[in-house]
Amino acid sequence: MLNFFKKPGFRGGVHAEEHKTVTAALPIVSDFPLPKKLYIPLQQHVGKPAEPVIKVGEKVLKGQLLAYSQGLISAPVHAPSSGVILDVNDYPAPHPSALPIRTIVLETDGKDEWIATQTVDDPFLLDPEEISFRVGAAGIVGLGGATFPTAVKLNMGRENHVDTLIINGSECEPYLCCDDRLMQEHAEKIIDGVRLMLHGMRTEQAVVAIEDNKPLAFAAMQAAAEAHASIKVIQIPTRYPMGWDRQLIRYVTGKEVPVGCRSSEIGVTIHNVGTAYAVHKAIRYGQPLLSRIVTVAGGAVKRPMNVEVPFGTLISELFSFCEVNADETARIVMGGPMMGDSLPHTGLPTVKATSGILALAQSELKSSDEQPCIRCASCVSVCPAGLRPLDMANNIRINQLDAAVDLGLKDCISCGCCSYICPSNIPLVQFFKYASGEVVARQQAQHKSEQTKRLMDARNARMERIAQQQREDELARIAAKAERERLKAEQQGALV
Ligand code: SF4
Ligand code: SF4
Repeated sequence: MLNFFKKPGFRGGVHAEEHKTVTAALPIVSDFPLPKKLYIPLQQHVGKPAEPVIKVGEKVLKGQLLAYSQGLISAPVHAPSSGVILDVNDYPAPHPSALPIRTIVLETDGKDEWIATQTVDDPFLLDPEEISFRVGAAGIVGLGGATFPTAVKLNMGRENHVDTLIINGSECEPYLCCDDRLMQEHAEKIIDGVRLMLHGMRTEQAVVAIEDNKPLAFAAMQAAAEAHASIKVIQIPTRYPMGWDRQLIRYVTGKEVPVGCRSSEIGVTIHNVGTAYAVHKAIRYGQPLLSRIVTVAGGAVKRPMNVEVPFGTLISELFSFCEVNADETARIVMGGPMMGDSLPHTGLPTVKATSGILALAQSELKSSDEQPCIRCASCVSVCPAGLRPLDMANNIRINQLDAAVDLGLKDCISCGCCSYICPSNIPLVQFFKYASGEVVARQQAQHKSEQTKRLMDARNARMERIAQQQREDELARIAAKAERERLKAEQQGALV
């Protein structure tokens, strides 16, 4: 069995102001009015976008497959409600750039009519491979924000003979408490999902790790897991970013995931509590992933809440339901304030990754009054990845991106601890996000130019081969002509 807390180690991190009390105390709202139109992006997960199987004008039922997964790492997309397909086209993505991505627009008919689903009396009689297959077909991805296809992780866990499944109930980002409420209200279903994941991976033990600022969720989960010796529910200290998978693995197991390795390679797999809940619904009732609980909070929200919304719901509709004051909204954030994305407007849809939508008032934002670095090294001591943020930022300022990479830029998880703690208000994480994007863009450009050079070299070699062949053909033709003329001359000489 695991030796919990034998080598507890939490590297860096901060005690961020939580802002969770109001929403964590309210039951999940489940009567969100069905939107008239849903905008369902085909890329809501890590990997290749899904490929549509429906046509414009087609009627669909709730839960019907709209787009299938392409390739090994991908996930299908299903209809969150019944209605008619209005369009398959480019629409703004829920991303800071709001650049368009391929999206299916569904006009709902208000009936919310389900397609026939497949229930299973005893899913533990299914083969483990069948569990992964059904999880994949249900379009389930990591609901903690990573959106990695869950079936792929289950398969990797089985193939790598993972011995420990960690269920992440830390929810360490400020404001967010959708997982907290889910654990309080649906603990037994989550534990059932955990048991199904263990079966799907052929793994014997699971640890559910919950931060100690969620005592009610901890109590509910402990009670639900009591009858299952293979599942242990533990409390972990509240500290951001406890939910980072490497941090959690180090804290729970004492194991370090080597750089460049996946956790399954050291015998551990992590899934989120929301993912376990989705697995329960998919395997027991054949229900694909169509909706999720979203925390709507922030100083500009009059009715903050955790609310279940179908994917494709526009943030504007969510904000109107929660009575968000547009004039008081200084920033819209998808996810938590530390790692979430700032969005340019509310005409963007909620997707599988949408754990929260925040409407933050000016008073909740960090001052933008940047001062010179005082070399206090606070950013170094809070960095969970063990980096030197001030040195990386200094190199990025003078466009020395290679030097920043040498200092570990690629290991930065954009957690924002350094920016949060910096007394000089230096937006360190913004430097790292910008530089990481730039490094990727440069690598892609270099890859493209190398590919172009390879194609040019291959073309030149082919042209040279053709020219050589033409020269040889010409020489052969001249030689044949000379031979014919010689023979002709011989024949004429013989006749004379
Ligand atoms: S925390 Fe800010 S002021 Fe302190 S060393 Fe880092 S960058 Fe400089
Ligand atoms: S944002 Fe990057 S550099 Fe800053 S604390 Fe987090 S991991 Fe370290």
